[in-house]
Amino acid sequence: MGAMNIPRLLGQLQDADLAADACREQIGRISAELNSDALAPERAALENMRDSLKNLNHQLRETTAQADDLTSRIQVYEEKLYSGRITSPKELSTLQKDIELLKGHRAPHEDRALELMEAIDDAEDGIARAEATLQRHKEALEVRRRELGEKMRTAGAELSGHEARRAALLTEIPAEAAEQYRLLRQQKGRAVARVEQGACRGCGIAVTSAWLHRARAGEIVRCTNCARILYLE
Ligand SMILES: [Zn+2]
Repeated sequence: MGAMNIPRLLGQLQDADLAADACREQIGRISAELNSDALAPERAALENMRDSLKNLNHQLRETTAQADDLTSRIQVYEEKLYSGRITSPKELSTLQKDIELLKGHRAPHEDRALELMEAIDDAEDGIARAEATLQRHKEALEVRRRELGEKMRTAGAELSGHEARRAALLTEIPAEAAEQYRLLRQQKGRAVARVEQGACRGCGIAVTSAWLHRARAGEIVRCTNCARILYLE
């Protein structure tokens, strides 16, 4: 038993546990990033742009149909006007007024159609740009995902290493000391505190020389203030 310094072994066990915790935390962060859909807002924005384009095309069809309808009515009137069948000046004048009236009704539809065509061009350009950007981001994300996969494997391997070290240390640590360690770790996060310059690193309080002597000898001594197991390098 003389060669076995239990507090020091517990210190090593704690190092392994803290390192394993850090690995698990890293793995958690990586998984969260891998599971998140980073491009969702961009895809949603593109979907909205496509919907607006659909809407603009629909409006253009409606406006064009209305203009076309007026055009065919104008044509009917014009045919009548130039047919030579109508000779009454009053009737001809009425016919001309009707044609002007219909053309007046048609003009806003034609203006609107031009505006819509311009808006459609702009929308199509915007969609093409957004699609190209999304494609670039998809490619960048693929690279990032491969990196994350690599980091995940590294962290997994490191974690296994720390777990193996923990298991090996536990074969050297008496069950009672291991249980004390487990309870303290549960309560305080850190069960073991190094003594540096005569003070407990866990809470900063000075450790008496008698305590130091016993800790140096490998006895399990707990800090009188924070109750952590003290160990010296
Ligand atoms: Zn302390």
